Amino acid sequence: MRVAALIPAAGRGRRMAEELPKAFLPMDGAPLLAHTLRQFEACSGVGEVVVLAPPGNGVQLAEELVKRFGFAKVSRIVPGGAQRQDSVYAGLKALGPQVDLVLIHDGARPFITPDLIERMVTETRVLKAVVAAIPVRDTIKEIGEDGRVLKTLNRDRLWEIQTPQGFHYSLLLKAYEKAFQDRYYGTDDAALVERLGIEVKVIPGSRFNLKITTPEDLALGEAILKMKKGEMRL
Ligand code: C5P
Repeated sequence: MRVAALIPAAGRGRRMAEELPKAFLPMDGAPLLAHTLRQFEACSGVGEVVVLAPPGNGVQLAEELVKRFGFAKVSRIVPGGAQRQDSVYAGLKALGPQVDLVLIHDGARPFITPDLIERMVTETRVLKAVVAAIPVRDTIKEIGEDGRVLKTLNRDRLWEIQTPQGFHYSLLLKAYEKAFQDRYYGTDDAALVERLGIEVKVIPGSRFNLKITTPEDLALGEAILKMKKGEMRL
């Protein structure tokens, strides 16, 4: 079975308020994207990696990064689109139908581990559509525009959805084609598959698998790395 990973890393990262696109911001001396790609490089279950880079100079920056770190599995660097969904679609089309399974993983989640990637591959083989997730710990309320509480949701059934998300390639392509036909934009890949009436299964992700979005997350990321290296105790 041919297994490919698509890494959307084409966001500008406006919430970072930096010139450089988010994927290339340094964390512990190496660009965020390099931390993420290193984990896929180390996972034997994935044969090929396609990176979605910010259009314009992002493609060149990604090419330089891949060369500098010697990421041999990266077969293509493709310019992303205006929204994440546009970027992933461009990557799916670049992969082509010879791929059997595809894992989508945000470039901005550098604390993915080869172990979780491997588990995703194993589960996706059988279940067709799988997402990594963690149970919600805080209480979630729905709030109206005026700031008043409308509803308290039942926390027992709420999960925070992460990436990787794994799919049979043909299924995900069909879901993407249908979404674009209907002009539907979802907030994750699985939502597009759910619209086809296909069951999506959740497997436990990790609390460390956070998405680096703001400067605070970057500081948190640095702290996690220090802790992993044994320089800091929590
Ligand atoms: O914006 P957000 O943090 O949700 O993005 C999640 C991932 O999708 C990031 O790795 C980001 O680089 C990527 N993305 C993309 N193309 C876009 C917007 C976001 O590849 N147009």
